[in-house]
Amino acid sequence: MTPDEFRTHGHALIDWITDYLEGIERYPVGSQVQPGEIRAMLPEHPPATAESFDAVMADMDRVIMPGITHWQHPEFFAYFPGNTGYAAILGDLAASGLGVQGMSWVTSPACTEVETLMMDWMQELLGLPEKFRSTSATGGGVIQGSASEATLASVLAARWRVTGGRINTIGDTTNLVAYATAQAHSSIEKGLRVAGIGTSQIRVVPHDGSFAMRVDELERMVAEDRARGLQPFWVCSSRGTTSSMAFDPTADIAHVARANGMWLHVDAAMSGIGALAPEMRWINDGVELADSYCTNPHKWMGVNFDCDLFYTSDRAALLGALSILPEYLRSQAAEAGAVIDYRDWQIPLGRRFRSLKLWFTIRTGGVTDAIDMMRRHVGLTQELASWVAADPRFEVIAPHPLNLLCVRLKEGDLETDAMIEKANASGRALFTRTVLDGAVACRVSIGGRTTERRHVEQAWALLQELA
Ligand SMILES: *Cc1c(COP(=O)(O)O)cnc(C)c1O
Repeated sequence: MTPDEFRTHGHALIDWITDYLEGIERYPVGSQVQPGEIRAMLPEHPPATAESFDAVMADMDRVIMPGITHWQHPEFFAYFPGNTGYAAILGDLAASGLGVQGMSWVTSPACTEVETLMMDWMQELLGLPEKFRSTSATGGGVIQGSASEATLASVLAARWRVTGGRINTIGDTTNLVAYATAQAHSSIEKGLRVAGIGTSQIRVVPHDGSFAMRVDELERMVAEDRARGLQPFWVCSSRGTTSSMAFDPTADIAHVARANGMWLHVDAAMSGIGALAPEMRWINDGVELADSYCTNPHKWMGVNFDCDLFYTSDRAALLGALSILPEYLRSQAAEAGAVIDYRDWQIPLGRRFRSLKLWFTIRTGGVTDAIDMMRRHVGLTQELASWVAADPRFEVIAPHPLNLLCVRLKEGDLETDAMIEKANASGRALFTRTVLDGAVACRVSIGGRTTERRHVEQAWALLQELA
């Protein structure tokens, strides 16, 4: 592709994206294709000669679009949102255009320094503790690709700290035990497994009627493990669980963690960003006692994937676990301690200039936009809850302080499942099913950037029609 062609096609692609997003309501929300259908529409072997870019774009419309589930659709109520915003899309494009590898400060100083500043800006905007700022004595933050990576990084730092760094040489994790509820995200167990903490060393702490961790049970389990000669080392407090958006009591968990030398990680991947709005700051209650914390602008802030904010108050443990310095990565700036090398804060070496999309978003009014949007979502969720309460066929089966409502047909699991299946097949909306203490529920996650009252009304009408 020549520079002139890039310019022409690039402008056309921006138009294509804008038309897509502004006309998205014409698509069914969930892709309607069968497995293998997309591949079957494409040639089995790579082209022998160059094709025109127009031919590629024609196939975007013909082949790709039918296989897209429209996450930006205002009737998308599935999973958790994965919002995008125009400024963030441009920030990501700029990062692609620069094509820098930000593994070390010296490989592109702006990539590191803007990221550090964005982490500090977000610490301030979210009202997070000072100990997470880059300027604090022992802490700091980094953008990870996902909350899963943040969790893994936190486990590795905790493992390093509890073993006094010996883990790097002996590699033995058999004594270590970690704690979370059954409501914690699957990435918790995955991260622990990757770090060598087997399922038999992961304790599932019972939860209460609101799906929050029972701290009395945590305390009992930790004491039991210690009596058996095991070493409790890591506990996860979820602030906004994936199944039902439950909130573990972080401060109480912190006291058990402190008393037993454990690392406390707060997983607020979905909800934490709500703290941009002052009245939602409670979401992060107790985080001042945590060793690490994460939240995802790529879910609810209009900053497209991938962008997870990961903070720790113990960067020495994180760096102890993850820094390895081969000759070819040495630099004077790093040796003098004058700079941050983010490769030491994450699993991979290479990294994209991800802070640009945050910078573009924040500077162009993205914070106010996000706050307005989140308030709208929370309000709509409460309204929907009142509509559900007025229909005797339905029930709400979990607390819903924010933007997730778990509804169920009183008739039973099979009926609820059938309703969700039919709703999703209709293409008119998309929901995710979950099971809460044995009861099937339809999760209504209200998080679309363009989701308005009328969209929630339509979704509710659809559920009522299929009940
Ligand atoms: C979405 C979510 C995750 C996983 O986030 P990724 O960034 O996709 O890894 C983890 N924990 C919670 C509570 C979540 O909502």
